[in-house]
Amino acid sequence: MLEKLKELESAAKDKIEAANSLEELKEIRVKILGKKGALTGLLRSLGDVDPEERPVIGKKANVLREELEEFFKLREQILRDAEKEGQWEKERIDVTLPGQPEQIGQIHPLNMILNEIREIFVGLGFQVAYGPDIESDFYNFEALNIPAEHPARDMQDSFYITEQFLLRTHTSPVQIRTMKKMAPQLPVRIIAPGKVFRRDDDATHSPMFHQVEGLAVDENISFADLKGTLLLFAREMFGPDQKIRLRPSFFPFTEPSAEVDISCIMCSGEGCRVCSNTGWLEILGCGMVHPRVLEVSGYNPREVTGFAFGMGVERIAMLKYGIGDLRLFFSNDLRFLKQFG
Ligand SMILES: [Zn+2]
Repeated sequence: MLEKLKELESAAKDKIEAANSLEELKEIRVKILGKKGALTGLLRSLGDVDPEERPVIGKKANVLREELEEFFKLREQILRDAEKEGQWEKERIDVTLPGQPEQIGQIHPLNMILNEIREIFVGLGFQVAYGPDIESDFYNFEALNIPAEHPARDMQDSFYITEQFLLRTHTSPVQIRTMKKMAPQLPVRIIAPGKVFRRDDDATHSPMFHQVEGLAVDENISFADLKGTLLLFAREMFGPDQKIRLRPSFFPFTEPSAEVDISCIMCSGEGCRVCSNTGWLEILGCGMVHPRVLEVSGYNPREVTGFAFGMGVERIAMLKYGIGDLRLFFSNDLRFLKQFG
């Protein structure tokens, strides 16, 4: 009988140690300590034992029972802890996992160029001015020395809303608006970025495009100031080795007027397909503010002078990024736009 107890003890302890789940432990407990369990059965057969041995064995069996109870409790605690840990493991947040990135947009290449232009001129002391997209005939043409019969109007055929109002064909009306507001204060130094509209539509023209107007009015402003300003702009925008070239031209609102070329950014002036083998690329038009324009705007052309320039933002962006078709800027093709991130 004593041997049976010992066997039961070691077998029970092994089983308890080996139990891998609370469920399993419960089953083992029923098999050993339950009503029909092994130890219970053994105690029941105590009646068959010699009366002398009975108290000794009975006592041992009870001690064993208590010991096994203790064993069960310990194992139960261990399994409970392990289960909890497993749950934590499952629920734990792995901070090293890549997050779900927010889908945010990026700045349009034209706005990148506009921002660059703005920064360069603000650095030179220019302020940023804006005007309306819908302009009157007076501000868009008349005040800029382009009367109704003037042939220059043909070059800027636009979208008329009424006979007197149209979508502005250039940013130059902002010159007039600014000077009228500021006269007779000096100096006037503004750039005016914005949309302009013309009836053109091909690979290098869009019915809507962007210009940046520049205007400086003060005493003793000379053509040299204009050239120096534009040279600095070209170098900031296209690189420190840039050269510029001014060719005589005509605009009704400047006198004298010039077209400005930069040395070709593809071939550095050697001559290539982009610059039609001339080594130069046209980037903007400029000139000294026409005395009539100053007068209309409230300044005395005998006391002050000024220079003005106007550049196409698309043109600058196409040159800077080597883009062949202007329509790409407005086609909303992400494959194109994503290249400028
Ligand atoms: Zn070239």
